Amino acid sequence: MIGNLIIISSPSGGGKGTLIREVLRTTPDITFSVSYTTREMRAGEKDGREYFFVDVERFKDLIAAGEFLEYAEVHGNYYGTSRSQVNDLTSSGKDVLLEVDVQGAKNLLASVPDAVSIFVLPPSFPTLETRLRLRATESSGDLQVRLRNSFSEILEYDKFRFAVVNDDLETAVEEMRTIIRSERHRTNRQNTAFKAILDSFDAAKHRFEKEPN
Ligand code: 5GP
Repeated sequence: MIGNLIIISSPSGGGKGTLIREVLRTTPDITFSVSYTTREMRAGEKDGREYFFVDVERFKDLIAAGEFLEYAEVHGNYYGTSRSQVNDLTSSGKDVLLEVDVQGAKNLLASVPDAVSIFVLPPSFPTLETRLRLRATESSGDLQVRLRNSFSEILEYDKFRFAVVNDDLETAVEEMRTIIRSERHRTNRQNTAFKAILDSFDAAKHRFEKEPN
């Protein structure tokens, strides 16, 4: 069975990092596709874990080689989703979480319309601003860019099939898990799983084919 593609977006500071980590930790059969980026590695990050950190030249080679399912320039850096990784992971039957910006989500939905899309909203602008400032991972210029971009990004929520407010972490995690689990039960995703059940009906059918007298 092929796993679902689950696209998660939010404005920077929406808190999706923590949320995604918790969903991955507590949901079986789910995994994360590590993107490529040209942005600087932050303290505490590890190459190959949060991202594959590459320079612009290498990123352009990867574009030319067709390695990206989608890529976008976000807050002044390039980010791209690895096509080979997503294919390998979904073929293994696992659901794959993709954390992308809103442009990336739109591009992915155009090429994979069956993907599950979830938008994560912060409870308010002041909360988003406080989270970003407390995180203290950006220079003040980068912080301004991210805050300014949040005004247009937040308006994109209705392009997504689902939306979750990330206020209380535990509640948001449970909501995400519910969405992911429900999607697994859509009939069109279960044709393979149901084949054995349908075959058992098929095998028994001949016993009932004669009209009773
Ligand atoms: P950050 O630099 O804070 O890790 O991420 C900045 C933005 O880039 C976030 O909105 C994040 O979701 C997005 N992003 C991360 N990976 C990808 C990707 O592969 N493609 C696209 N389009 N956006 C990404």
